[in-house]
Amino acid sequence: MEDCVFCKIIKGEIPSEKVYEDEEILAFKDINPAAPIHILVIPKKHINSLLDLKDEDFILIEKIQKVINNLAKQLKIEDEGFRVIVNCGKDAGQEVMHLHYHLLAGKKLGEKIVG
Ligand code: 5GP
Ligand code: ZN
Repeated sequence: MEDCVFCKIIKGEIPSEKVYEDEEILAFKDINPAAPIHILVIPKKHINSLLDLKDEDFILIEKIQKVINNLAKQLKIEDEGFRVIVNCGKDAGQEVMHLHYHLLAGKKLGEKIVG
C-alpha cells in the first residue's frame, strides 16, 4: 500500500530499528514505546486489520506468534512475562491500518497499555 507507514518501513523508505526479519514477517521497535520493551511484529503482506484476514493469511498469525515467542526468549523476558496486544478498529484506537502485534515487556504493565 503506497501511503501505509508500515509498508514504507518494510521497503526501507522509513528507517526503523529492526529486531527480526524473514521473508514474511518483520519485527521492529515502536517509535513511541509504552514500556521498556515495545516491539511491533507485522506481516510483510499488507493486511488492514484482524478482520481483513483471509483464509490463506491465518498461517501468518501462527508465524507471528512464533516470532514473538522466540523474541521473548532472546530478550530474556519469559520469566518476568510480557503482553501481546492487537488493536482492531476505532474503539481499540488502531492508528496504523496495517495489522501489527504489540509486544510489551520490561516493567509491571498496568491495565491500560496502548492508545
Ligand atoms: P496502534 O495504535 O495502531 O495499535 O499502534 C500503532 C503503533 O505504531 C504506535 O504504538 C506507534 O507508536 C507506532 N508507530 C507509528 N508510526 C511509526 C513509525 O514510523 N515507526 C515506528 N517504529 N513505529 C511507529
Ligand atoms: Zn501496509
